[in-house]
Formats: sequence, C-alpha cells, structure tokens
Amino acid sequence: MPILQAFAPSADRPPMPAADASPAARRYRVVPVPSLEWTPQVERETAPLYQRVKAVVPPVEWPFFAPYVKAINALKRERNAVILAHNYQTPEIYNCVADFVGDSLQLAREAAKVDADIIVQCGVHFMAETSKILNPDKTVLIPDLKAGCSLASSISGEDVRLLRQKFPGVPVIAYVNTSADVKAEVDICCTSSNAVEVVESLGADTVIFLPDQYLAKYVAAHTTVKIISWNGACEVHERFTAEELRRYREGDPSLSIIAHPECPPDVLDEADYTGSTAGMIDWVRKHHPRRVVMVTECSMADNVQAELPDIEFVRPCNLCPHMKRITLPKILDSLIYLKEEVVIDPAIAEKARRSVERMVSLKR
Ligand code: SF4
Repeated sequence: MPILQAFAPSADRPPMPAADASPAARRYRVVPVPSLEWTPQVERETAPLYQRVKAVVPPVEWPFFAPYVKAINALKRERNAVILAHNYQTPEIYNCVADFVGDSLQLAREAAKVDADIIVQCGVHFMAETSKILNPDKTVLIPDLKAGCSLASSISGEDVRLLRQKFPGVPVIAYVNTSADVKAEVDICCTSSNAVEVVESLGADTVIFLPDQYLAKYVAAHTTVKIISWNGACEVHERFTAEELRRYREGDPSLSIIAHPECPPDVLDEADYTGSTAGMIDWVRKHHPRRVVMVTECSMADNVQAELPDIEFVRPCNLCPHMKRITLPKILDSLIYLKEEVVIDPAIAEKARRSVERMVSLKR
C-alpha cells in the first residue's frame, strides 16, 4: 500500500544557519530551496515518471510527490550526485529519483564503480557506510542519520573481538547489515544473495557467521560447513509467521509464496522460493505468478507491482521503520544542505574495505 507522507512546506524553510552546516556543506555551496509548487509545468515534466508508478501511486498523491521529484532530479544533475536506493524504498523514490536500485550487494557493487562527486544513499546507515568504505574520496550522504537496522545494532566490533578469542582461528563472516566497526573486525562480508557462496569460498570446515541467526540457519541448511551463529534478527522479517502463510495458502491453494532468508525457518518451510530481494524480484519476473505473497518488507511489493501491474500482490504488510525514515523531502534537504554526511575513521574504513572488497570481488 503506498504511503502518503506528511510533507513539510519546504519552500518556507529558512536557510540552514552556518553553525549547523555539515562539513560537506562547507566544501560545496548550499543552493537555494527550489519552488515546490504543483504547477501545470511540473505536471507536464513529471508525467513520464508518473507513468512508472501509476499502478501504485494514486493520482491524488502525485501532486505532493511531483514537485519534489522534479527538484531532486534537477539538483542531482547540478551537484553531480547519484542516488542509490534499496528495494525497500517507497515507489516514488525507487522509481522516480533513484539512479541505481537493488539489494545490498547490487548497491555495494554500484557504489564501487559510481562516477559522481556525491552519493545519496536511500537506505539505512550501514548501506551508506558501505558506500563510503568503497568510495573514501566521495561525499556520501544519508537523508536521515537515524535510519538504523536491528541487525546492525545487535553486534559491535568488541563483540567480534571476543568471539575471535573464544573460537581462535575460525574465520568470521559478517552479513553486510553490520556497522563499519564490525566489518573492520571480520574476514569477509556477505549478503543474502551470496551468503552460501561466501561461506564455501573460505575452504574452512567451521565459520562464525553473524549477526543474523535466521540467515545463519538458512546457510547451514545449504552447506556442509559448520556454522557458529550470533543472536541477531531483523525486526521486520522475524514478525512473519508460518501460520499466517498457511492461512493465505488455504484461502488460495494456487498462491505463490516467496520469502527472504532473514525469516524464521518455519516461515521459509512454507515458501515456494527463498532468496534475496534481488532473487525474489527475478523469480517474479521469470515465473509471472497470478497471485504472489512476497514475504519481506512491504514496499518491495509496491515496486515490483509498478513494473508488473497485472500480477496480484497479497501483502502481509511489515514495514521497516528505518527504511521509511527516508522521504522525498529529506532527500531534497540532503542535496540542498549536503547532509547528513557519513564519516568513518580512516583506519576502520581501511580494514572494513578489505572485508567488503573481498566479497565484491567474488565471482557471481
Ligand atoms: S528490513 Fe530488517 S534488515 Fe533491513 S534495514 Fe530494516 S531492520 Fe534492517
């Protein structure tokens, strides 16, 4: 279900006081706040973009979004900026202002080769950190610094050091949903699309896999490598239950159910397919089911629906409150005021880069 956000009247906002200016704002010039009026010209210029989202954004909402979409796209060009948006971003962000979309792995790969002065990360903080780790000389912005992640906050670099003491010599793999601090302490990173491949790439009979206990269980079921896991969980995916999926299936036995491996194992047992967000999107494109439940964050179904309007998406709607902190007005503020800038201690970034680059360089 699309979300109508309560947008602040940005045209009335005062310029940011110099004392509050971000380090990036001191390096670049702050530009004036553009007009955010809904005019016939805005309607005309944004009409092709509305076509992309008309299946999921009602016409009554577009006049709220369109002036921001136009302003953001103009400012991106002026700033030589790119927007990387995760699959869980809302449709008007994902379809109308993003330059690259994807799951964590796809965004990390794009971040590694991006040709722009500024990266605006529409996702959560660990993703923006990953972009900064891979682009130390670029300015990386996240529209809301509070966009966190229950997995990333479940473990610290100190926890990893203690694990290494407890299991000496055992290689450590971190899901990308971790802070730079944690990435700096591990041997390699992984995402949900390459977790099994990364585990097997190390040639070890035992590995420490953190922080998602459910992804660890999923990997353990698909490899002979012994997995030592951590107790973290995604607050969105662990809310799904096998019982609710069984009820959907009883109501329509022809329904397809596809799930993300951050879900508990009994939920995955009910699924016809399990994969990363990119894998789930590919599965829907390939199989073109009549009705499908995507057992993952709710906005992804909207984004795929925008592309494939003839498929019916049944939505057990669990939203990620962190992803939903990113809105068009905050993206516009990011580009005007160059905030919030992601800064990482260079020594930590250097160590973390090795873990991320080792993952990115693995063959697909
Ligand atoms: S959906 Fe889960 S894993 Fe993804 S950012 Fe939100 S809390 Fe973290």
